[in-house]
Amino acid sequence: MPELPEVETIRTQLESILPFAIEKFTASQGLKKNILHTKLNLTGRTLTAAHRKGKMLDFILDDKSHLLSHLGMTGTWLITKTKPEGKHAHLILEGSGFFLTYDDPRRFGHLYQLDELSAQKKLNELGPDLASADFTFDFMVAALKKLKTRALKVALLDQKYFAGSGNYIANEICAHARIRPTRLCGKVKAAEYPLIFEAIQLVIKGAISSGGTTFQGGYRDTSGEKGLGVNNLVVFYQKTCRLCGVTPVKKIIQAQRGSYYCPQCQK
Ligand SMILES: [Zn+2]
Repeated sequence: MPELPEVETIRTQLESILPFAIEKFTASQGLKKNILHTKLNLTGRTLTAAHRKGKMLDFILDDKSHLLSHLGMTGTWLITKTKPEGKHAHLILEGSGFFLTYDDPRRFGHLYQLDELSAQKKLNELGPDLASADFTFDFMVAALKKLKTRALKVALLDQKYFAGSGNYIANEICAHARIRPTRLCGKVKAAEYPLIFEAIQLVIKGAISSGGTTFQGGYRDTSGEKGLGVNNLVVFYQKTCRLCGVTPVKKIIQAQRGSYYCPQCQK
């Protein structure tokens, strides 16, 4: 599933081709049935900017409307010179010289075209973006105090507080902070808050600079490439902890998702 670093990689690549004037577009039945939540008014419009909050891509159009795109499990935007033929190409935007396509085999993505006010409302459902200056140390501490009865890793998945996180990011943050994923937020010591905050910066920036991380074929960038971020992982999907280099990683299930930790390094 694409998390913040993967969506940011896609966003940067999309931004490099903007502005993109849409001459015509085609939407599949699958898009209308599973992915699209509003009407689309794209013919003759121009995509002028590509922003992001958490895992939500936010395209701005020249009529000030927003095209919000959540990639779900397997969604991506592809940039190609020829028209894509695959059955997973659910929305094809045709411009001069190339095509911009929303491709999503499992169709868990979401797409909305909204006016400025409604788009802001939708984006405000998300907390501060983990990679932005809005996500401050004080905000993080307040969030952990508010979520004190929740396990740290489960809390880290909450998009209302940690927008852009996902399963691998939450696991890796716990590992770098040397805290077990099962520890309740209320049991995190004040001296450990800076460790969590630094771990968030390390994991997010490391993964963005490697172009995203791929598991089980869930993520591709705009050219269909998988990122190199998998090389940075210290516990997620690892047999041996890469912090200490010796201890076997333990896997447990929390909130229906796999949690990985090192019983030696994480307390
Ligand atoms: Zn270890």
